[in-house]
Amino acid sequence: MSVTRREFLRVSTGAGTATALGGLVGLGANLGPARARAQELRIRDTTTVPSICPFCSVGCATLIHVKDGEIVNIEGDPRSPHNAGTLCPKGAAIYQLHYNPNRPTKVLHREPGAREWEEWDLERAMDRVAELFGETRDDTFIEMLPDGKRAMCTTSVFALGGATLDNEFNHIAQKLMRGMGVVPIENQARI
Ligand code: SF4
Repeated sequence: MSVTRREFLRVSTGAGTATALGGLVGLGANLGPARARAQELRIRDTTTVPSICPFCSVGCATLIHVKDGEIVNIEGDPRSPHNAGTLCPKGAAIYQLHYNPNRPTKVLHREPGAREWEEWDLERAMDRVAELFGETRDDTFIEMLPDGKRAMCTTSVFALGGATLDNEFNHIAQKLMRGMGVVPIENQARI
């Protein structure tokens, strides 16, 4: 198929899309075989591991393709009765949980009023979090309500779990929080 630049732009715009893909489709190109071939190459010689998207309580089923011990692709599982192979934009980006060069890998701390971030090692950061948590909890802990009812809690600390934490971690985390008297305990997967 021979297409001039002018024809390509005319059809792209006429079809209401400015993408190259839209232009090719508008000119009658059948992209089905190329798309199928690209899909096939992406997962060739991989092992497929069924899993679940961790981001929300819908729990869409996924297929993880692994090659030489490395995840090379994650997509929706077409066998799943409730997501039928589809994933929302968040789920479609799960691959980036494993590989994302933009993810910060160091703890950065900025003193109140400071303009610059300082790099902390994880141990130091965890100690500081534990220290602030303990102080806040102790300062705000309510043993007894004014009417004499026993409360034994603080509402000044809020626990929010991340969607990628697994059930076991969440179980331990909520036990710890309840043991410390924290009342609001939530997980991003439910939000
Ligand atoms: S975040 Fe999206 S893909 Fe993941 S379980 Fe929820 S709806 Fe499904």
